[in-house]
Formats: sequence, structure tokens, C-alpha cells
Amino acid sequence: MTCSGQPSGPTQQHAYARGPRITAVETAIPSDVMPGLLLLRIHTDAGRVDCEEVVGHGETYYIPEAASAVLHDWMAQRLLGADATAIESHWRFLYERMTAFGGIGAELRALSAVDLALWDILGQLTKQPVWRLLGGPVRDAVPVYNSCGGPMYGVRSAVSGKQAAGWPGHGDPGQPGPLEDNWACINAPGDLAEELLDEGFTAMKLWAFDAVYRESGGLRISSADMAHGVAPFEAIRDRVGDRMDVMLDGHGLFCQTAALDIAHAMQPFRPLWMEDVLRPDSIRAMTEFRRGAGVPIAVSEMLVTREQYRQALDGDAADYVMIDPTWVGGISESRRIAELAQLYNIPVLMHDCTGPLTLMSGLNIAGAVPCVSYQECVRAHIATVYPRLIDTTVVVDAGHICLNDRPGIGARWQPSLFSPETPGYRISRA
Ligand SMILES: [Mg+2]
Repeated sequence: MTCSGQPSGPTQQHAYARGPRITAVETAIPSDVMPGLLLLRIHTDAGRVDCEEVVGHGETYYIPEAASAVLHDWMAQRLLGADATAIESHWRFLYERMTAFGGIGAELRALSAVDLALWDILGQLTKQPVWRLLGGPVRDAVPVYNSCGGPMYGVRSAVSGKQAAGWPGHGDPGQPGPLEDNWACINAPGDLAEELLDEGFTAMKLWAFDAVYRESGGLRISSADMAHGVAPFEAIRDRVGDRMDVMLDGHGLFCQTAALDIAHAMQPFRPLWMEDVLRPDSIRAMTEFRRGAGVPIAVSEMLVTREQYRQALDGDAADYVMIDPTWVGGISESRRIAELAQLYNIPVLMHDCTGPLTLMSGLNIAGAVPCVSYQECVRAHIATVYPRLIDTTVVVDAGHICLNDRPGIGARWQPSLFSPETPGYRISRA
């Protein structure tokens, strides 16, 4: 019961009225920067704290128009006029309502964006970074590795009007040039490894079998394709020895036999982990794959519910757990999944490639949850894409990103991105 004697709880329309009210939900799609991204701002009546308007910032990635529709046409009914600090109440209410109708796609992505923005608001109101509100710090700086995408990964469709290499998640071969790590990791892997070591990175993830899939599919790997796929790892070991940890991301493109063949061929190169070489549709198949692989297995940014992660952990399918906070339900649910992995003593990897607040969220979680092992980053995005989106400069130093002391999530969208004239812009007001 509340003080007024009314029943309370997440199923109530507006359960609490102790914090500032949400006055508007505003979204934009940065089509000319990263067209798969949905930017969210949640406005409140809190006014200014330390000369800055209290505004929550969130994001999600993939089919942004669908997530935007969920936010404005459905979630706004719950959020507008409600207490902006009732994070868990809103999360649970929206989760319960969406899952009553099978909603873990665009709905869960929209909820993720909302959750990020509400944590950002709470941080601004309390003048604390989110990692501190979550109980951190558990470290001063977060280990990061470089995922070998290029500056146009996730961006190219903004230029050409279509994906360069098919659908999102199928990789991009890139081209010669600065920060073209996707091209360099295949065509000049030793040079790239040395360059990354010089920058302080000690781990790099390659998408070396994406081209094999594009050429030959994912059912079987010929000897020639296998040699092509492992060649970059061989070159890196030859050039820099064990000074660089290497990982392989298969983007879920291969069936069991092909995935096991890849794993066995990768064993001599001692990858830190292999990720999504087998598509993670079946926990039993994932468990069989892990048992036969002979290398550590990371599972998986493609899982999205806590129950899927629990099954993977309980089924001995994972040596590492990979989480994307803007897909699984935001900072709140990522924290819960990471704590679940902690129970099994399985290290956690925070995903990126999908937007600057995904990166910021992962860093906040890593600042508060001890079992987070690595934060993924794409140095090409940090250098060329993210500065066009956020007002915070991300600095990788000696293979780490320091915890950000700025109140909230650690970054704000560039205001120019939210123009009513921009295609895809929407605002819903209380
Ligand atoms: Mg991945």
C-alpha cells in the first residue's frame, strides 16, 4: 500500500509520484550517420541540475522505425506524466504487458532504450554516474578489445542507400585505408596486430569466416575455405606471438559440423574465445558444440531474455556470456544477467558495434559488476562515428577505458540530431 492507502506495484498505471514527471518522449533516427540506430531523449519537469537540463538519453539498434513506433504509440501511455525515477516499476510494467503478447523484439529494444534514459535521469538528479548508483566502482578502468570492423560498418547504407554486404550482421569486407580494420585483419593481419599493440590493445576480434560464408555458405567448410579463414590468425601469431589475444566472431552463420571444424582448426592459435560460430538457436546444440570445440566459447549477444541466458549457463553452453544492454532490456536487465553469470563464475563480455550508448551502458555495468571481463569496442567507430552522435570523447588508453565520472550514463546526444525536420523524428508530450 502507498501512503495514500492505494495499492501499488508495477501493474499499476502510475504507481509512484515521488520524483520528477516525464513530460515528453522524443526520438530521432540518424540516417546520415548510423541508420540502424534509434536515439531517445526522455524529458522531465525536473528543470536544471548544475546548469544542465535533466534529460534522459537512451538508444537501441536495429529497425529503429519499429522501436520508435512501440515507444510513441504504446509505451508513452505509461511513461508520460509518470515518475521518471521509478525505473524498476516502469521496466516491470512494460515487460509484463509486452510479454503478454509475445513481445521480445522491437518491444524489448524499445524498453532497453527507455531503461538507459531513466538511469541517465537518475544519475543526473543525484549527480552520480550510473556505475556508482549500481554499487561501483569495482575497478577504475575497463579492459577493452578491438573488434575489427571499419568506419563504414553499420554506416555504409547511409551513403549508398543499401547494405554493402547484404543484411546487417553479415560483416563488411571494407577497403584499404585508415581504420579499415575489417579489410586489414584479412589482408594485412600482422600489420594490424602491430598497429593495435602500439595503441595499447592486447586483444582483437576478427570476423575472418564471414567471407567464407558469403562465398560458400555455412553448411560445410572446404579445405581451401578453412585455410583462408585461419590464415589471419596464423599471420598474427607469426608476427606478434602471444602478445596479442585473438578471438573469432562467426556471427551465427555456421551449422554444427562446420562450426566444429572451424573450432578444431582454430585450436592451434589458442583463441581467447570463439563467439557465435554456431548459431545459438538450441541450448542443447550449443552445449554439444562447446563440449566438442576444444576452445573457449562465448554465448551470445543473440540471446535476449534472462531465461535464455539461464538455460545457457545451466546447460554448460558458455565459457563467456556476451550481453548487449540495448537489446536485452537495458542496464537493469544487463545487470541482472551479469549477476546471474557471476553465480556460475562465468565471465561477462559487454557487446558493442551498435551505438555509443551501448558502449556507455556496458562501461557503467563493468564499473559495478566484478565478473565483467571485457567491453567490446570498435576503434573505427570511436574515432569516426560516435563523435558525430555524442558529446563525450571516448578514450582508449593502454587497452582500457576509464570510468566516466560525469553524472548519468556519461554522454548526451548531439542536440542537432533532434531536428523536427529530420525524417523519422517524433515527439510525444504529456
Ligand atoms: Mg558478436
